[in-house]
Amino acid sequence: MKTICNDCTKEFEMTQDKLREKYLGAMITEIYYHCPNCNNKYSVCIMNTKCRSLKRTMQFEIKKKFAITNDIESILQDEKIDNIQKELHKEMNRINGKA
Ligand SMILES: [Zn+2]
Repeated sequence: MKTICNDCTKEFEMTQDKLREKYLGAMITEIYYHCPNCNNKYSVCIMNTKCRSLKRTMQFEIKKKFAITNDIESILQDEKIDNIQKELHKEMNRINGKA
């Protein structure tokens, strides 16, 4: 994913390995990354224990589904995965102040 830095306006490739995690206290972790050109910090989101555990459960359920089917559609339509995803979004919005 290409991203343009607001600060130095240089374009850079945003990859998963650029993401950093910082423990803020009170079971809350901030996910962020730095612009490789000017080092400007970008906050992605705030995660708490509940979010992390929901995300783990979801990845586990997706993996389990993939073991029995390669059909993305049926995985996306899986009610259990869908419910976990909804719950995760709700919690993410709540702690990120978007609710
Ligand atoms: Zn920059």
